Amino acid sequence: MSDEDEIICHCYGVSKKVIVDAIQGYNLQTVDQVKKLTDACSGCGTCRFEVGELIKEYGNMKPKPTVPQMNIYRPNSPFKAKVLSTKVLSVADGCETKHIVLDISNAEFPFIEGQSLGVVPPGSNEKGKSHKLRLYSIASPRGGEDTIEDSVAICVKRLIYEDEGKGEVQGVCSSFLCSLDVGDELNITGPVGHSFILPDDDNANVILIATGTGIAPFRGFWRHLFLNKERSKTFKGHVYLYFGVPYSNSIYYKEEMEELRSVEESTDQFHLNVAVSREEKTASGDKKYVYHLIEEQKEMVWDLLMKPNTYMYFCGLKGMEVGVEKVFSEMAKTKDVDWEAFYRKMKKEDKRCHVEVY
Ligand code: FAD
Ligand code: NAP
Repeated sequence: MSDEDEIICHCYGVSKKVIVDAIQGYNLQTVDQVKKLTDACSGCGTCRFEVGELIKEYGNMKPKPTVPQMNIYRPNSPFKAKVLSTKVLSVADGCETKHIVLDISNAEFPFIEGQSLGVVPPGSNEKGKSHKLRLYSIASPRGGEDTIEDSVAICVKRLIYEDEGKGEVQGVCSSFLCSLDVGDELNITGPVGHSFILPDDDNANVILIATGTGIAPFRGFWRHLFLNKERSKTFKGHVYLYFGVPYSNSIYYKEEMEELRSVEESTDQFHLNVAVSREEKTASGDKKYVYHLIEEQKEMVWDLLMKPNTYMYFCGLKGMEVGVEKVFSEMAKTKDVDWEAFYRKMKKEDKRCHVEVY
């Protein structure tokens, strides 16, 4: 049997030749376009994946952007996205956190890792005005989710808090998002953000510091660096991820991160450290936070910071950066470095440190 006779879609017996001819003949760019023309890929995920790979190989793909594009969709002209899938990543203290994948196949939504999207929740506030949009970090790489091209994922925690007088209150947008089902539609805007993005340098060291759902953009980062067909071949740098969560069941994407360490491209390049604040204590009996992880490895991290090709990113809870900065400013004293000046230059001039905390 020749390579061209190879059956790609076993459900419908469609050969590789038929699929490649369709991709090349009609300049097809998505799996769904192939499906319409060839009957291939009507059912199983394996087939979708194979067809996606053939599109990458034989198709004249729309070039994915390397510089961030912004605000193609705005609150007064949002894109109506459809929910493709939802997955509960964890439930802690009555709040669930979900991974939500959205279909953007009919949109021009050329995002890259580290950008965010806006969600305009339906309905109006107590004053009768439409709800304002909320931002969510994009949790997928530019190519979308594994077998679902033209998709974008977010990682959302349902906000629940006690309000004096009102009792338990749920956040407007996060509870709207966490209640969505497959097939539901929602208005999105964006993409947003131009600086919280990966360096082009293939030898860069990348230090990622996250708390809670602040892990979202970093999932896009690691998937781009280690699972993207092209970038994974050229990226030779190291990724150091420090992740702080309240409970061990809130280590979002744990399995994915563990699996990643067995992917050839990431072997020895992906370094994961987790602090579980409500289950682990430091030697002095304090809750273990991300900055304790950095403190434990401070000599190594300090040496990295001194290298001009090291980039540091904070994402998550407001204030989380303070503990880490304190570790470095203490280190600086022992190294005779003016930390204030060094850090200012690192952020402003060299653009090697990016903080996105809310
Ligand atoms: P709202 O209804 O807007 O309620 C929030 C308000 O509730 C607060 O302003 C405060 O007044 C009040 N409140 C909150 N907590 C308490 C409390 N404990 N006690 C009393 N009052 C309180 N979130 C994610 O889950 N995932 C992400 O990836 C993500 N990415 C973001 C990226 C950016 C750039 C930004 C700016 C924010 C991001 N957020 C993310 C947060 C998100 O935008 C929303 O703020 C969050 O989901 C809450 O919105 P909500 O509409 O549910 O809450
Ligand atoms: P979470 O699950 O509550 O986890 C936060 C973790 O950080 C907990 O373990 C918490 O410990 C710990 N922590 C508390 N204070 C800290 C400090 N000073 N330094 C280091 N760690 C500290 O988090 P979450 O509810 O998802 O909240 C994440 C926040 O990130 C939200 O406010 C969200 O809006 C924001 N966010 C921003 C972006 C962005 O800007 N791009 C993206 C995603 C999320 P204890 O609770 O045990 O004390």
